[in-house]
Amino acid sequence: MKENNVSRRDFVKTLGVVGVGSMVGVGQALAQSNAPSATTAPTPTKPVKIPTRPFGRMGVPVAILGPGGDFDIEANQIILKQAMDWGVTYWDTSGGSNAGRSERGIGMFLEKNPQTRREVFLSTKYDGGGMTQGLNQSLERLKTDYVDLYFLHGINNTSMLNDDLKAWVEKAKADKKIRFFGFATHANMENCLQESAKLGWIDGIMLKYDFHLMHTDAMKSAVDAAIKAGIGLIAMKTQGKGQLGTETEADLKLGGHFIQRGFTQQQAKLKAVWENPQITTICSQMPNTTILSANIAAALDKTSLTAADHAALREYAEATQSRHCAGCTQFCETAPGHQVPVGDVMRALMYHRSYGNPELARTVFRQLPETVRRGLAGFDYTAAERACPHGLPIGQLMREAGELFA
Ligand code: SF4
Repeated sequence: MKENNVSRRDFVKTLGVVGVGSMVGVGQALAQSNAPSATTAPTPTKPVKIPTRPFGRMGVPVAILGPGGDFDIEANQIILKQAMDWGVTYWDTSGGSNAGRSERGIGMFLEKNPQTRREVFLSTKYDGGGMTQGLNQSLERLKTDYVDLYFLHGINNTSMLNDDLKAWVEKAKADKKIRFFGFATHANMENCLQESAKLGWIDGIMLKYDFHLMHTDAMKSAVDAAIKAGIGLIAMKTQGKGQLGTETEADLKLGGHFIQRGFTQQQAKLKAVWENPQITTICSQMPNTTILSANIAAALDKTSLTAADHAALREYAEATQSRHCAGCTQFCETAPGHQVPVGDVMRALMYHRSYGNPELARTVFRQLPETVRRGLAGFDYTAAERACPHGLPIGQLMREAGELFA
C-alpha cells in the first residue's frame, strides 16, 4: 500500500476545511499515526492524501475510501470538494440513486471542475432499461465520456453474466465508454464471487463485506478465488449495525472498548476491513463532513488493530448475529414455500434503521412486487426461519418492514 507521511501541522491545516465536528476523530487518528510533533514538523508543502491500493489485474491505483452516492450530492457539493482535497477519489453512484440526482450531482461537480475527472476512479451501476441506453444516460448525467467501472446492480446469482453481456462489455470497452466491468452484490455474495471468478472477463465486484462476514471460510475462499482471477474487490456495508436497529449492551461495550483505544467503533469497523489487503477500497455512505472526516481519519491512521480489538469485534459479532442479516439468501429464499425476497426486504430495513436513510429504504422496498409489499405480514416464514443459519426472526422483521414502509 502506498504510504503517506502525516505531520500534525499538515493535518491541522487541512482540518480547517473539514470542520470542527471532526476534530475528535481526526485528532485521535493523528495521535495514533506516529506523526512528528508540531515543533518538529516541517512547513506543509502539500495536502495529506489517503493511501491507494492496486485494483484487480489492471493494478490501477484506487483510493482506499470512497463516498457512496446515496445522498443529495447536488446540494452537498462541498463533500466532493473535501473528498478531492483528501484524496478520497474513488466515487460510486448508480443510475437509480435518488432517481438520477446522485449521478447529476457528480456531473455538476465534474462539469465545474473538469481537471478532476482523471483523478477520480468513477463507478456507476446499470439500473434497468437497455444496457446501452442506461450507460449513455449515466454518461450524460455524469458529464463525462467514460466511467472507470460499470456495474450490474445488486445481483444475487450469475445468470445474467452470459455471452451476450460479455459481447456488450467488449463493445463498450472498445468504444471507450467503460474501462472495467463488474457487478455489485448484497446477497449470496460468496457464490457470486466463486462463479464469476471462472468467467475471466469480470474486472471488479462490489460486495457486502464486513467484520461479521469476512472471517467465514466461505467468504475467505470466495475472496481468494476472485483475487486469483484478477478481480478487484470493493467492500460496502462495512459499518452497518443490522436490521433490528436497537442499541444493545453489546453496542455500548464495543463502543466503550474502542473509545479507550482512541477510535469510534465505526472507525474500527473500517480498519478491520482494510486489514485485508485483498480489498482494494471501501465504499461508504458519507452524507456529511463529520462522517467524511472521521472515515478519512481512520484511513490515514496507521495503528493496527490489536488481538484485543479483534476479540472485541468477534465478541460483538457473535452477540449481534441474530439481528444482522448476512445476505445468505440461498438459505431463506430456497426454503419450502418461500415467496418473499427476504434479502431485499432486509436491505430496506438496514438502510432505514442502520444507515438512517429512509428515502433509500423506500426506494429499495418499492422495487419489490406489489403482491409481496402488500402481503408481507401474511406469509408463513416458519421454514425460512428454520433455514436461517443466524437465527434471524424473519417473520417479525418482515411484518415490521410491512408496517414501516406501508
Ligand atoms: S434472513 Fe437469514 S438466511 Fe436470509 S439472508 Fe439473512 S441471514 Fe441469511
